[in-house]
Amino acid sequence: MDVKNHEIVLRGGIIIDGTGAAGRPGDVGLRGDRITGIGAPGSLTGGNCLDIDGKAVCPGFIDVHTHDDRLVLIDPEMTPKVSQGVSTVVVGNCGVSLAPLDLDGREPPQPLNLLGAGKDFRFKRMSDYVAAVNATRPAVNVAALVGHSSLRVAAMDDLKRPATSDEIEVMRGILAEALSAGAAGLSSGLYYPPAQASDIDEMVPLASDVAKAGGIYTTHMRDEDDYVIDSLAETFEVGRRANLPVVVSHHKCAGRKNWGRSNETLAYIDGAASKQEIGVDAYPYDACSTILAADWVDETIRIIVTWSTPHPEVAGRDLADIAAEWGISQKEACARLDPAGAVYFDMHEDDVRRILKHPLVMIGSDGIPHDKHPHPRLWGTFPRVLGHYARDLKLFPLEEAVRKMTDLPARRFNLKDRGRVAVGYFADLVVFDPATVADRATFQSPIAQARGIEMLFVNGSLSFSVNGLTIGRSGQFLSRRTLI
Ligand SMILES: [Zn+2]
Repeated sequence: MDVKNHEIVLRGGIIIDGTGAAGRPGDVGLRGDRITGIGAPGSLTGGNCLDIDGKAVCPGFIDVHTHDDRLVLIDPEMTPKVSQGVSTVVVGNCGVSLAPLDLDGREPPQPLNLLGAGKDFRFKRMSDYVAAVNATRPAVNVAALVGHSSLRVAAMDDLKRPATSDEIEVMRGILAEALSAGAAGLSSGLYYPPAQASDIDEMVPLASDVAKAGGIYTTHMRDEDDYVIDSLAETFEVGRRANLPVVVSHHKCAGRKNWGRSNETLAYIDGAASKQEIGVDAYPYDACSTILAADWVDETIRIIVTWSTPHPEVAGRDLADIAAEWGISQKEACARLDPAGAVYFDMHEDDVRRILKHPLVMIGSDGIPHDKHPHPRLWGTFPRVLGHYARDLKLFPLEEAVRKMTDLPARRFNLKDRGRVAVGYFADLVVFDPATVADRATFQSPIAQARGIEMLFVNGSLSFSVNGLTIGRSGQFLSRRTLI
């Protein structure tokens, strides 16, 4: 019998520890912000015993791919995420980060505007953003990447060319401050106009500084379409030349011509991963979402408009229907709707499954929180992997689904003492019902809370409860673990 007085005991659940090991019945004890005991069912004692018989208890989910930079400040309850069991978000993906960048009220270029307007970019230094997060105390922990496009906007007067050596030095200075403030690493969005003109000789010095600080490089690659292999090669070359781990963001094979090519891309990734550190993230849907751009409209795939500044009334409607109603082409409709966002059904389900199943692949929602009619991944990603893909389709065991959301990302992003149910680890814990867990957000009704997530503890405090009785905010900024 355990004699420690745990403050909280989660009694009699199935413990899925995050490593991929088979779930086993047991008690989990918490005190303060840590896990203080794990034992046989009924063996732990404590002040507050919660009976979770028949439920699973596992580490809090780590959403490695988010655009929640501003959401954690303006909507710190973080309902779309805590209701899925997410205890940590990694912000600043796709080259786009709210910090460090002070636009002094000037409007940001696309796609930085996915995060907010000019007035929202008000953090000249990462340390200012870290202070704002800790002062706000959101319901989730926050790790932050520095966006390469944000650095370019800060350092350059013309984004349509590679950076000069002087401009690279300016970017390195901004990056150095961010890394010393605890940023997890650097992200790029070479696909997007603000970074398209940059080349590998611009990325390597920045990535090398990140490497020296023990950080990571993540990338929304230059191409996820016909030239996806070339883009993987470019990504891995940055990793090799700068000597740091790389993460391929939201891996996909986009465009009809490329459907089925995940066999090829995953084999290519495996080959490189035998020689260097590589991670991959993916979300469980066959449609992507970003800004609406005429270049990406091929008049064959379905596109849903998620927001439009001149035409807010069309949010949630198909671009094809809007164009037909207006008597113009879809590309012409894009011009009329600009600036706008969209969902593109540009992937094949077979590729989605093959990628999700790959052992290197972590789960990241890529949710876009400020869209009027968002992609359902914002509210549904994690329960969809647990329910639809693991339980219903049996794509992989539940334990493997949990590993992709917990231990794997915690190791990849160097989140110390997180991602496992283990004594001494932070008490970031989810209790869910394996029999009922499911996403409810759809492309038609994307704002819907998932089913089956019963409780979420963040740093030992209850942050979400399905009965809505106790909602606390106990998240903190997670500084990169110092490796040197
Ligand atoms: Zn992206």
